[in-house]
Amino acid sequence: MTKQYFLLSCFIFISIVVCAQSPDGGGHYESDRGECISERQRIENERVLEANRAFLLANGLLKHPKKTRNLSLGWPLQQAAGFDYCSYYGISNFVDHNAAYPNQVLDYDCGSRTYDLASGYNHGGVDIFLWPFDWNMVNDQQVEVIAAAPGVIVGKFDGNTDMNCDFSNPNWNAIYVEHADGSVAWYGHMKNGSLTNKTVGASVVMGEKLGLVASSGSSTGPHLHFELHDLGGNVIDPFAGACNVGGANQWANPKPYFDPTINVALTHSDPPVLNPCPNLHNTNKKDTFLAAEDIYFAGYFHDQLINSSATYTVKRPDNSVYATWTHVPPVYYAASYWYWKYTLPANPMYGNWNFSISMNGQTCNHPFVLKNPAATLLAENEQNAALFTITPNPANDFVRISAASEWVVVYDIQGKLLGTYHQQNRLDIRSLESGLYIVKSGTQFQKLLVKH
Ligand SMILES: [Zn+2]
Repeated sequence: MTKQYFLLSCFIFISIVVCAQSPDGGGHYESDRGECISERQRIENERVLEANRAFLLANGLLKHPKKTRNLSLGWPLQQAAGFDYCSYYGISNFVDHNAAYPNQVLDYDCGSRTYDLASGYNHGGVDIFLWPFDWNMVNDQQVEVIAAAPGVIVGKFDGNTDMNCDFSNPNWNAIYVEHADGSVAWYGHMKNGSLTNKTVGASVVMGEKLGLVASSGSSTGPHLHFELHDLGGNVIDPFAGACNVGGANQWANPKPYFDPTINVALTHSDPPVLNPCPNLHNTNKKDTFLAAEDIYFAGYFHDQLINSSATYTVKRPDNSVYATWTHVPPVYYAASYWYWKYTLPANPMYGNWNFSISMNGQTCNHPFVLKNPAATLLAENEQNAALFTITPNPANDFVRISAASEWVVVYDIQGKLLGTYHQQNRLDIRSLESGLYIVKSGTQFQKLLVKH
């Protein structure tokens, strides 16, 4: 993405001028499409499930299903405790309702957000991928697979590799739950060893943790393949739409076909770097900054449409607006991110700042801190002997600084940045008034007393 600095349009909003501002960078995520489950594995899974069902029915662990379809599905994913992204996923594929193939696809809304293959495979589920920083989320165990409806476990496959990036691995980790109406939910591509300890035949309640998202089986990245079958083993699409002929909505809280959502607002030291599967991404997340440092404000979205204008606002600790701008994406992306580079003021208001993004009535906040190095250092009673040295100290004309890093930064006692100096030169302090100053080298701080 090329750097662009031009203003597209402005409008006045409660006496603050808000302008559209082109990002300094960004990108989008597009999943590769292939069989989520191979035909061979599908047949094998169905054989095992049938055998399990027969055993469970014979032993009273599974009831003969009611014929009426009466599902009320919850969302099959949730964020683990301690994580606070506003959203953590996007949708890449729905069920393909056109039995013809290849390249003859029809999702429930008569769109083409699905796929088929020349082999005759029509995608049979909904693919929900993690966004942003998918492999970091897998590594952090940020996203849990949970039961969309209560039922009985009728199948479990575990022990397969879960960092796959292509369609060559046929074996996934998956769990299968049969509901009271005889429908069965398939939860595929899960993390090796993450599946619930409950065995086949055990009951699960709605929302119960079944395991973690990863990329086991035929998969190009971390996602959940959620597939529903009716009593007869036919694929059911839980989304209601004109091209889901005869199908009804099965969700307790149905989502719109396009669901423009802010996933998270973040601050960074440098632009985020998305690495190829299955590597962790360099998030370059940073939440504590010093005066005059560069800061990247980034927004991450799923389903952001070209008319989904997002307003970005940065507020100082006293709630006054430091910067605000708007942005719309150039085209629709299933998942996108945009970032803007700013240089924080040399003499800022220190404390708790806030970066927020608002879109379609949703607001996502991301607090960050501008730390006053003077206040931090003065709060400490003694200086650390391991710190770099300033000689002489106190001083009245020149000082020499022995520091590991090449450059040193000098602040006054209010935390105002006075300048950046090459540490090999003698620092001329004759223009500084008598008093206490703060010198920073790398991540360390030292006091300097100037006495004229
Ligand atoms: Zn899938």
